[in-house]
Formats: sequence, structure tokens, C-alpha cells
Amino acid sequence: MPPLLCIANWKANLTPEAETVLARTIQGIMQQSPADNVEIVLTPTFVSLYEIGYEIDHPIVLAGQDCYWEEVGAATGEVSPVALAHLGCKYVLIGHSERRIIFAETNEMVAKKYAVLLKTQKKLGLVPIVCVGETLMERKNGKTREILEVQLSALMKAMPFNKNFQIVIAYEPVWAISTNQHGARKNCDPSDCKEAIGMIKDILHTHSINAVNAIPLVYGGSVDEHNASSYITQGDVSGVLVGSASLHAKRFCAIVHSLNTSI
Ligand code: PEP
Repeated sequence: MPPLLCIANWKANLTPEAETVLARTIQGIMQQSPADNVEIVLTPTFVSLYEIGYEIDHPIVLAGQDCYWEEVGAATGEVSPVALAHLGCKYVLIGHSERRIIFAETNEMVAKKYAVLLKTQKKLGLVPIVCVGETLMERKNGKTREILEVQLSALMKAMPFNKNFQIVIAYEPVWAISTNQHGARKNCDPSDCKEAIGMIKDILHTHSINAVNAIPLVYGGSVDEHNASSYITQGDVSGVLVGSASLHAKRFCAIVHSLNTSI
């Protein structure tokens, strides 16, 4: 069985110094009490990737918080897939709802990033973690499946998936993200997570993706040390994406340990 994923998304919350200390502390705790069933993915700001690369070791790996939709090129302010690969990233987060909402990223823009990561995957080895999920209004209007369908179809249109590619899909209902001012300010019930995960699998099947079971599906939205394992045991996911609680080394490692004993 592949390891569960525990992904820390630090967003733009910390200074490079604080991110380095946080990574070092997590590495120290995990060295003292390993969690062999979990792969830990740290997603610091771009400016810390180089430094943190020297702080971490197996089973901790790095991810970029986003990337440019071309391999390299003239795009001021962007960070290319080539640069992320050179910085030692294994994963790249794309389509996070904060990018979709604050920076008006469309499904087509996310799909271009997805496509470049898959096209260059053999060479660069980067695995996209694609975030999808509905807003509170969309959920209230019964549009969860429709939204997931639109978001996922844009990806498949840009680059048809095949079993040689590696991707991760993160179901992140926008309303469940702890810092979302317009959200319900609560985490998604594991049974609701399971239902949405079922929709995602079903949608992928309709795109003739036979290898659906090989695609890790993770949940994100107000995950903490108390509820994390319930998503594994009841939510039908193989990992979690953690925002706020990942900013505290002890809390984040408690989440990792709770996942480790959940299987
Ligand atoms: C996120 O923003 O991806 C996230 C999951 O945040 P939080 O854990 O704070 O809800």
C-alpha cells in the first residue's frame, strides 16, 4: 500500500527564517518518532525551497505552491516547473481556491499548469496536486457535482490522462477552508467528503480513466490533529492537505502520527 499523504500548505504566512525553523523542527520530531506509513509534503514559499531542501530528509519532500504554465519562459514573477524541479520539489500544488479567488485563476489556466507538468513529467518528475472543490453557495444550490465536473473536465481536455502519469487530486471544499471569510467555518463532515470523493471517481471514470484507483485523492479544509484520521477511515481519502494547523510543528506532526496509526 502506498504511503498516505500529509501535505502542509504554509501559504504566505511566514518569513523564510520561520519556515526554515518550522521545517527543521518537523524533521526533528519525525526523526525521533517516525511515521512509516506517511509521506510528508512541505509547501513553503518559493523563496524558502532552496534552504529547506538542506533541512529535510526522507520521508519529507517538497512541493511548490504553484507554477508557471510553460516549462520556462518570459513571464515576470512566475516560477517555472524547471526551477521547481531543480529546487528538489517532488510535487506542485495547482488550482488552490485562494489562487482561483484572489488571483482570478480560471479552470483553463489551472489546466495549462496541469498539462505542462504532465508533458514534462518524464523529464522533471513533478507531480501535480490539483485542488478542486465547490463554494458554499454552490453546495447549497446542489451544484457540487457540476462544479467538480467542470473543474476536472478542463484538465482532461487540456491533457488526457493515462496510467503512466502521476497526479494527486485534492478535494478542498472552499467553504471548509479555515481562513475563508465567507465559509461555514467548519470542516467538511467525513461522510460528505466521502460523497464528493465518490463523485470525483465517477467523473474520472466518465473520462475513461481506468486507473482511478491509482490516483491518490486527498481532503483539505480545517483538518486538525483531532479530525485528520476520520477522513482516512470514513472519508475514503488517502491523505490530507493542511493549512493553518501545519504552521505549528507539534500540531502538524500530531496529524502525521494520527494518519500513521489510522491504517
Ligand atoms: C488550505 O487552504 O488548503 C487549507 C486546507 O487550509 P486550512 O487547513 O487552514 O483549512
